Amino acid sequence: MEIFRKFDGLAGDIERAQPQVNLWRKFVYCTSLSGTILGSVDHMKQEDFDKVISPISVAHFSQYKLVDLLLKKLDDVGFQTCFPDELGGSSAQDLLLENKILMGHECSSIQLTDDGILVGASFNNGGRMQERKLHCGLLLGADGARSKVRELAGISMKGERDLQKLVSVHFVSRDLGKYLSSERPGMLFFIFNPDAIGVLVAHDLEHGEFVLQVPFYPPQQMFEDFSAKVCEQIIVKLVGWEPADIQVLDIKQWAMHAEVAEKYVGCDNRVILVGDAAHRFPPAGGFGMNTGVQDAHNLAWKLCLLLNGIADPSIIQTYESERKPVAIFNTELSLENFKAAMSIPATLGLDPTIANSVHRVINSSLGSIIPRNLQKVVLEGLFSIGRTQVSDYILSENNPLGSLRLARLRSILDEGKSLQLQFPAEDLGFRYEKGALVAEDCADTTYQAEKQKHSKRSSGEYIPSAKPFMYLCVSRGRDDFLQGMFSTLDLVSGDKVEFVIIIAPLKESYKLARAMLRITDEFELSAKVCVMWPQGSGGEGVKGSMSELAPWTNYVDVEEIPRASANSWWEMCQNLGH
Ligand SMILES: Cc1cc2nc3c(=O)[nH]c(=O)nc-3n(C[C@H](O)[C@H](O)[C@H](O)COP(=O)(O)OP(=O)(O)OC[C@H]3O[C@@H](n4cnc5c(N)ncnc54)[C@H](O)[C@@H]3O)c2cc1C
Repeated sequence: MEIFRKFDGLAGDIERAQPQVNLWRKFVYCTSLSGTILGSVDHMKQEDFDKVISPISVAHFSQYKLVDLLLKKLDDVGFQTCFPDELGGSSAQDLLLENKILMGHECSSIQLTDDGILVGASFNNGGRMQERKLHCGLLLGADGARSKVRELAGISMKGERDLQKLVSVHFVSRDLGKYLSSERPGMLFFIFNPDAIGVLVAHDLEHGEFVLQVPFYPPQQMFEDFSAKVCEQIIVKLVGWEPADIQVLDIKQWAMHAEVAEKYVGCDNRVILVGDAAHRFPPAGGFGMNTGVQDAHNLAWKLCLLLNGIADPSIIQTYESERKPVAIFNTELSLENFKAAMSIPATLGLDPTIANSVHRVINSSLGSIIPRNLQKVVLEGLFSIGRTQVSDYILSENNPLGSLRLARLRSILDEGKSLQLQFPAEDLGFRYEKGALVAEDCADTTYQAEKQKHSKRSSGEYIPSAKPFMYLCVSRGRDDFLQGMFSTLDLVSGDKVEFVIIIAPLKESYKLARAMLRITDEFELSAKVCVMWPQGSGGEGVKGSMSELAPWTNYVDVEEIPRASANSWWEMCQNLGH
């Protein structure tokens, strides 16, 4: 969301369009949407509303709606989407010059040439597949988890594959939305009952829009088995009553992996992977798209420098050296989050690892002996016996086993060991150990130790650090230049490449800032000085910076907003001795 603040107010558009926070702040664990609530966790704290860590809060917004907003923003800056039948006789080169976004085209081939890369984009022309050749300088593979670009570039993935297969059912029901809004609002509903198990994502309760995730086990259970009718029946079993207006919009299958591409950049620096094409995580903790957006943000300024002839092509390699470690870390964290999410069914006697083992045994022992439909009967019979663990009879305070399991579940939820929604320490606390701006020999060797410490599921608070290239803290503007609260990201220009130095209002620091301004002037680069004052340091600041930095005027005075629970930036600077 901080990155989207820079994109012509996109973050504000999302905040206005998303559902009210009270409708999505909770994760609910229940036997059905109208049955017993086994537990629930509220994931918003007062400091999220007070904007202590960041000037903008976490948001809940469907990805397809975000894509619409992004396309609108691109349209505003002169890009237009067009479909194959709208392209007429334009040649490939004309298309590029016209700033068009080609919809309905799939990258299907690549070929390196002396001065670039020839990309084949196939499209359906009235029922006949055709390929358009586009000559490009660079090809960005932002084509998702099953990236064709990655495959064509011969880049392999490393990590754990096929952790689970799921069917994803996008449906609407205003009746269900209305019921949940008034009875038990929440974002994620983990539902366990003897007839069905599933995770329901409530995208928009007001408009009754949902996506249901149901695990399935091929080849005994096939994706094709999940017709709209079957999906509707599963929904009714999970709801506990029959909403009259269920409308299934889309049914998709997907596989969960925990993998990162071996390389982010390939084919002589001509192919660059971004987003899920470069990494695919279990969707536990909301790291997938967020990591992809950060990739794009990291790559954009480097491409800008490269294409404007300011930087050498080697700058593209720093995209990989900066972003890949973050993806590896987030993959491990998402895996741990996934395991934390699975600890709930395991506690209730529905251990998913047992389901996987049963499936494996059936595959290996019955696979070649009995027909597949019989295997399906055996598998579903065993699963159905397994699901009796969450029957009212067993899962009851009157049943010693049930009461023990319910107590364990409550302690997992109370101790914060279940799946969490927010990860400020991990979202903000990463640092590029080596890359575009930190020379390798200056890399902080303590970082590994630090990384281990804050490693996976330590979660919790983000502790600001004064170390170079870390997200710093939230500040308040002190003059007309910046108003209100903002983060260090807000200091950097959104429409040009700009270097920012953050200094304390001290003689030595002003000297350093003047040296930087002289160099950036010499190289005709855009730069800005941010003078960070301690909170409540009075009104002398504006004059102080003015006289110290004259004749330059490209500086801004800001005041730190220290947090009660963490050191202030000033204290950290003093601890570091500068
Ligand atoms: C159930 C679930 C819940 C999730 N929840 C969250 C969450 O809460 N927060 C979060 O941050 N992330 C979440 N994610 C992850 C998130 O959806 C992905 O990380 C994100 O969609 C990746 O974006 P992308 O643009 O890299 O890829 P995609 O969204 O997959 O987009 C790829 C695009 O490339 C196109 N394409 C495919 N092949 C080609 C080709 N050959 N040529 C041209 N174009 C092609 C596709 O049509 C598509 O438009 C979730 C994922 C799942 C499955």
